[in-house]
Amino acid sequence: MKVTEHIKKANGKTQFSFEILPPLKGQHIQSIFDNIDPLMEFKPPFIDVTYHREEYVFKEVENGLLKKQVVKKRPGTVGICAAIQNKYGVDAIPHILCGGFTKEDTENLLIDLDFLDIENVMALRGDAVKSETYFKPEKEGHNYANELVAQIEDLNKGVYLDEELLNSSKTDFCIGVAAYPEKHMEAPSLDSDIHFLKKKIKNGATYIVTQMFFDNQKYFDFVKKCRKEGITVPIIPGLKPISTKKQLNLIPHRFHVDLPEDLIIAVVKCKDNKEVRQVGIEWCIEQSKELQKAGIPVLHYYSMGKSDNIRTIASALF
Ligand code: FAD
Repeated sequence: MKVTEHIKKANGKTQFSFEILPPLKGQHIQSIFDNIDPLMEFKPPFIDVTYHREEYVFKEVENGLLKKQVVKKRPGTVGICAAIQNKYGVDAIPHILCGGFTKEDTENLLIDLDFLDIENVMALRGDAVKSETYFKPEKEGHNYANELVAQIEDLNKGVYLDEELLNSSKTDFCIGVAAYPEKHMEAPSLDSDIHFLKKKIKNGATYIVTQMFFDNQKYFDFVKKCRKEGITVPIIPGLKPISTKKQLNLIPHRFHVDLPEDLIIAVVKCKDNKEVRQVGIEWCIEQSKELQKAGIPVLHYYSMGKSDNIRTIASALF
C-alpha cells in the first residue's frame, strides 16, 4: 500500500515507522531481521531501507604504489526490501539516488522495483562521494532530486526514456522526498530550500520525510512555513535518539542540525555511553509525545542498525 494510503487509513492516529541500513558487505541478512523483529509489535506500516553509494579508496598494490578502488560497503537495498515485504508483509521503501545512476540505470531499477511489488520509493539526490567536494551527477544522470522525481512520475504515466516505448506498462509509485527543517547544508537559505522542495512536490512527490531534529519547535516552524508556501502533503518527522558522546560532535558536523543546550549538558554529564543512551531515549520520548499530541500522522525513527533504543521509545508511545 502507498504511504499516503497508510496515512489516510489510520484516520488521524499517529503511526510508527523506521529506517534501517543494509548490513556491511559480508554480513548475513539475518542481522537485519534481528533488528526488525523486536519492532514488529508496533505494527509499522512501512520500513525504509537506505541506499549507499560506492566509495573510492586507495589501496597499496606494490612498491608503495596506490591504486584507486571502488568499494560498495552496504549493497543490497533492493534485495532487503523484497525480503522484508516477503517475510513481514510490510511495505518496504527503497531509497533511490541521483548519484551514481544514469537515467537509464534509474529506469531499469524502477522496473525491478515494480516487478517486486514495491509501491513506494524515497527519491534523493545523495551526497558527494568522499573524494569530491561537491556532488557530481553521472554524465547521463540527474543533478537534483526534483529531476529524479520527474522521471519516476513519467514512468507512472508510461513515459519511458525510449520514446518508441509508447503505450507501454505504467508504474504506480508513491514518491517520498527529503526535507530539512534546519535547511540543507548547501542551500543559501531556508526559503530557497523550500522553493526547491516545492518543485519536488510539483514534479510528483506526495509525501516528505524530514532530516532528524532535536528541537520540535524547528519542525513546527518548518511545517508552518511549508504550508504557507502551499505545500500540502504530509511532512513526516524523522527522529533519532542520541546514543554516544561522540555524536555531540558528529551529528552537527554530518547532518548540519543543532543540538539543544539542555540535551548537550545532559549528555556531557553522563559517565559512559550506557547513560548517554538513556538520556537519548528519554529526550526522544519527550519529542515523540509532543509530536503525537500535535496529531502528526507518522513518527519515523532512524534506527542506524540498532533497534533496542527505538523499541524502548516505541513502547512508551505505541
Ligand atoms: P535535493 O532535493 O536535490 O537538494 C539538494 C540541494 O540542492 C538543496 O540545497 C536544495 O535546496 C538545492 N536544490 C534543489 N534543486 C535545485 C535546483 N534546481 N537548483 C539549485 N539548487 C537546487 N543519502 C544517501 O546517500 N542514502 C540514503 O538512503 C539517504 N536517505 C535519506 C533520507 C532522508 C529522510 C534524508 C533527509 C536524507 C537522506 N539522505 C540519504 C541524504 C541526502 O541524500 C542528502 O541530504 C543530499 O545532500 C540531498 O538530497 P536531497 O534529495 O534532499 O537533494
